[in-house]
Amino acid sequence: MRLADHPALHAAVTRGAPLLCIYIFEEGDGLRAHGGASRWWLHHSLDALSRQIEQIGGRLDLLRGQASTIVPALAAAAKAGAVFWNRRYGAAEIAVDAGIKSALARDGRHAESFNGALIHEPWEIRTKAGGAYGVYTPYWRAALALGDTAPILEAPRALARAPYPASGPARAALTDLDLLPRRPDWAAGLRLAWTPGETGARARLDAFMQDDLAAYASARDMLAVAGTSRLSPHLRFGEISPRQAAEAARHGVANAPAARDGAQKFLAELGWREFNHHVMFHHPDVATQNLRAAFDRLPWRDLPRAELDAWKQGRTGCPIVDAGMRELWRTGTMHNRVRMIAASFLVKHLLGDWRIGEAWFWDCLCDADPANNPMNWQWVAGTGTDASPFFRIFNPMLQGAKFDPNGDYVRRFVPELAGLPANVIHAPWTASAAVSERAGVRLGTSYPRPIVDHIWARDRALAIYAGIKG
Ligand SMILES: Cc1cc2nc3c(=O)[nH]c(=O)nc-3n(C[C@H](O)[C@H](O)[C@H](O)COP(=O)(O)OP(=O)(O)OC[C@H]3O[C@@H](n4cnc5c(N)ncnc54)[C@H](O)[C@@H]3O)c2cc1C
Repeated sequence: MRLADHPALHAAVTRGAPLLCIYIFEEGDGLRAHGGASRWWLHHSLDALSRQIEQIGGRLDLLRGQASTIVPALAAAAKAGAVFWNRRYGAAEIAVDAGIKSALARDGRHAESFNGALIHEPWEIRTKAGGAYGVYTPYWRAALALGDTAPILEAPRALARAPYPASGPARAALTDLDLLPRRPDWAAGLRLAWTPGETGARARLDAFMQDDLAAYASARDMLAVAGTSRLSPHLRFGEISPRQAAEAARHGVANAPAARDGAQKFLAELGWREFNHHVMFHHPDVATQNLRAAFDRLPWRDLPRAELDAWKQGRTGCPIVDAGMRELWRTGTMHNRVRMIAASFLVKHLLGDWRIGEAWFWDCLCDADPANNPMNWQWVAGTGTDASPFFRIFNPMLQGAKFDPNGDYVRRFVPELAGLPANVIHAPWTASAAVSERAGVRLGTSYPRPIVDHIWARDRALAIYAGIKG
């Protein structure tokens, strides 16, 4: 969803022939359907990309259906000499793209795919024994050792447009894709929070590099501070490449050596993104299967509807969890630290299967990513190859006090607790009657009592875990 550092577009333009630029909204073929927030993002990203392409003389044609039939049919109708695209790494996507490549080759057309989404292809980084990594640190060490020397590609200045063939597959208008919410329009908060598209991505990257990179290493975990890049949906939709982001961080250090720690940490986070794609490539069922088979025996609870709804809607009575879940619903994102706390609450305090939480995040996150979302859920649940151990159970009140010491993050998203002082805002049931009254907080009425007691829930989770350990 970008023009700069787009290897497939660059190769096509270099070839010199007129171009058909297409985007297929894929359905079927075993692909995972976009969630609601991703659909919203995709609509605006396609809109932005269409305009950019038109500004340089081209046109973005939209189609809807199965890429496996559309691409060969369109290539034939257009008598295309060559077809180019950037690779993707899910098993179903790889199968579709491989099928397209063979169909085009059968028809005698040049077909070529490129790496536009990652710094390193998942198969480029190998252990000494030639296998895949399961643990992040040695993976990232190997990736850094390999380095990245490919130049960042300029956006084309002009595109020569080929006419769309009359006998080609039917095109769709953006509105035909039906990506925006109908009623209720839940996207008001998303519109305020985000500017999808390459221009928005570039502006975000520049602002982060200028204002926040130097303090990133220390500010990234503080919830009330906008200390992270907020690039994840832009990266997810390819509006900016990870190599552009990495290059900007390296450039930031060259200009301001004090930003070295921040840049290293930022690169390491991009490294998690790389690692997660590496693991997904080697374990294609990462969104559905525990990476540690011992967890197949863990008896997740069949969550009562009321508990699951309380978690989804931010009414658990645990302020930091509720603030995070409401941030997610309102803005289409959630701070990484709170994602960990809220996910841990579902998996360990309520004993809900991580796949239920993963599916909810998939629907609500603008950055919902087929590798990052399940891999992070598996990290939290302890079921991943490189994961936080199951027995390490976050205390959400302590996490809140540590990462939101003044309570401002909770106040922003749980306004009914806004009047509480910092020393009780993460555990409102510990406030005295006088303090609660002054703050207008009546537990059980204006704000829920906790749906589960922390110590009791912790003991329950540990007992269940003891049952599968042996
Ligand atoms: C339960 C759970 C679910 C998650 N689901 C997703 C998801 O669907 N999509 C997604 O992109 N991230 C996901 N994350 C990771 C992380 O929360 C987000 O990438 C981060 O919050 C995005 O904010 P940012 O762009 O400001 O990050 P920054 O701190 O600025 O980091 C820069 C970039 O590094 C990458 N990154 C940072 N942290 C991680 C991480 N833990 N794993 C992988 N990549 C990372 C992202 O691309 C991010 O944009 C999830 C984390 C958890 C705990």
